[in-house]
Amino acid sequence: MSNFYVVATPIGNMKDITFRALETLKEVDIILCEDTRETRKILQRYDINTSTLSYHAQSKMSKTDKIFDLLAEGKNLALVSDAGTPGISDPGAMLVSLIRERFGSEVKIIPIPGANALVSALCASGLPIHEFTFLGFLPHKKGRETIFKEISNAKRTYAFYESPHRILKTLESLTEFCPNKRVCVARELTKIYEEFKTDTPKEVLKFFEENTEKQRGEFVVIVA
Ligand code: SAM
Repeated sequence: MSNFYVVATPIGNMKDITFRALETLKEVDIILCEDTRETRKILQRYDINTSTLSYHAQSKMSKTDKIFDLLAEGKNLALVSDAGTPGISDPGAMLVSLIRERFGSEVKIIPIPGANALVSALCASGLPIHEFTFLGFLPHKKGRETIFKEISNAKRTYAFYESPHRILKTLESLTEFCPNKRVCVARELTKIYEEFKTDTPKEVLKFFEENTEKQRGEFVVIVA
């Protein structure tokens, strides 16, 4: 029987990787990577020499067939993404689903939990998080207004990922549609310039407009 491990890797701070993840990455036959160059950084840091194979959102069915062949041969594989937990707004969920469908209980799919930007942001935000809805990345164009209206009427907390190109636009929409909510922008989690800014959408927007250098980086937005 083969094992297929879904392994979380750091979202910034290279120390945020578990002993079990390192042990797994050392022991498997092949590591499937979203981008082999990104994964090499962590492998070099921890002196891991396991072979890598790229697997990303654009990978063709022939790559999936190759992975199926490796599992059928009894190889143990690990799946990693560029950062955090594979499948969470990252490639991987579809592959896991295909492996379950194709192999059933013949392949053991084993999660190796660890870093994740959503959970890191929520747990330190100070906002109510006993119940929340995660939206992944918001649509770029069509459907945005509907989502902001949904958030404005929501009783529970909402969270989503945002890119530096759209953070101001999103804060403008929150100011328009949800002026009375509290919003927390968690930026550069686990990195040197990690920062949480929590206030009304209008005040958070003002803060990022005035501090243009803070418009760069990676963001999780939480709306209570
Ligand atoms: N799989 C990852 C996880 O487990 O969190 C998420 C990958 S998704 C492609 C990348 C997005 O996650 C970024 O655009 C950002 O919104 C969020 N993100 C990832 N790392 C982050 C960090 N260090 N600080 C804040 N947000 C982060």
